[in-house]
Amino acid sequence: MKIDILTIFPEIFQSGYLQTGILGKAIQRNLININVVNIRDFADDPHRSTDDRPYGGGEGMVMKPEPVVKAVESLDKGGGKSIKVLMSPQGEKFDQALAWQLAKYDRLVLICGRYEGVDERVKELCVDKEISIGDYVLSGGELAALVVIDAVARLIPGVLGNYDSAVEDSFKDGLLEHPHYTRPRVFRGKSVPDVLLSGDHEKIRLWRRKEALRRTALRRPDLLARARLDEKDRKMLKDLGFEVNLGGKN
Ligand code: SAM
Repeated sequence: MKIDILTIFPEIFQSGYLQTGILGKAIQRNLININVVNIRDFADDPHRSTDDRPYGGGEGMVMKPEPVVKAVESLDKGGGKSIKVLMSPQGEKFDQALAWQLAKYDRLVLICGRYEGVDERVKELCVDKEISIGDYVLSGGELAALVVIDAVARLIPGVLGNYDSAVEDSFKDGLLEHPHYTRPRVFRGKSVPDVLLSGDHEKIRLWRRKEALRRTALRRPDLLARARLDEKDRKMLKDLGFEVNLGGKN
């Protein structure tokens, strides 16, 4: 996948998160190709300014449309199926389902706003989708873009050593994931559940499913209401003492 990041702070992407761990390896192995574009390079005044005062008055500055639109237009047109995304607290809330949708594209163009945001006309001219990473306001879209890149990259075949772990992660079927344990078997008086040491794969699968259901019911009942549950799940929830008339999809 090719990912173009449009920003006035390219240095944020040049040393740090993208160079580390799973993402760093994915980039080295060319599974992800990152192209950082400095929006300032498309400003045409001597000060290379990318912001201006808002029409109508008020606090703060607004990102000027010309440099952003020109930066988008400067991108080569190849690279298969692509989507242009503006990072914005007013966008569609980013979640695992949206990460899976984005992972189907060959190319993501991520536009990072700053100041009070970008001139509205940028959205009309060259944005396919606005994405928010949550109901809070960041200083810029760069951190939000990194969040999207990380979540999407994990879903690209080959990026994780074990692709199944992306499929098994939290939010599979709309549920939180079951708890994990590793050695030692007893740590400060706390033991690993016996079933995980039983070697009985079916029993372990059922225990994990039950714990995923329990955890989701306790922590995120909103997710449970939308989760894909079958009759066995409903029975497990009932046995756990949770209300089973949840209206989930079968
Ligand atoms: N005045 C804007 C508003 O109220 O909607 C907020 C602008 S914010 C200070 C500057 C930039 O940070 C935005 O243009 C956007 O690119 C990015 N940003 C801030 N919060 C975000 C969020 N929750 N998700 C995605 N991007 C965000």
